[in-house]
Amino acid sequence: MAPVPRTKNGFEPKECAVCQRPFEWRKKWARDWESVKYCSQACRDRSPKSRKVS
Ligand SMILES: [Zn+2]
Repeated sequence: MAPVPRTKNGFEPKECAVCQRPFEWRKKWARDWESVKYCSQACRDRSPKSRKVS
């Protein structure tokens, strides 16, 4: 069975804008979870919009 992302620390899982997979909140994103749209750095690099955010 595939692991199901769960709400962590009160934050619900999000869906990656690139690979469409749900991903869980992570401690490193605690400051800007609202602006996180990708599950990983690799997906962020693949996003055509990634160049806007340095
Ligand atoms: Zn992704």
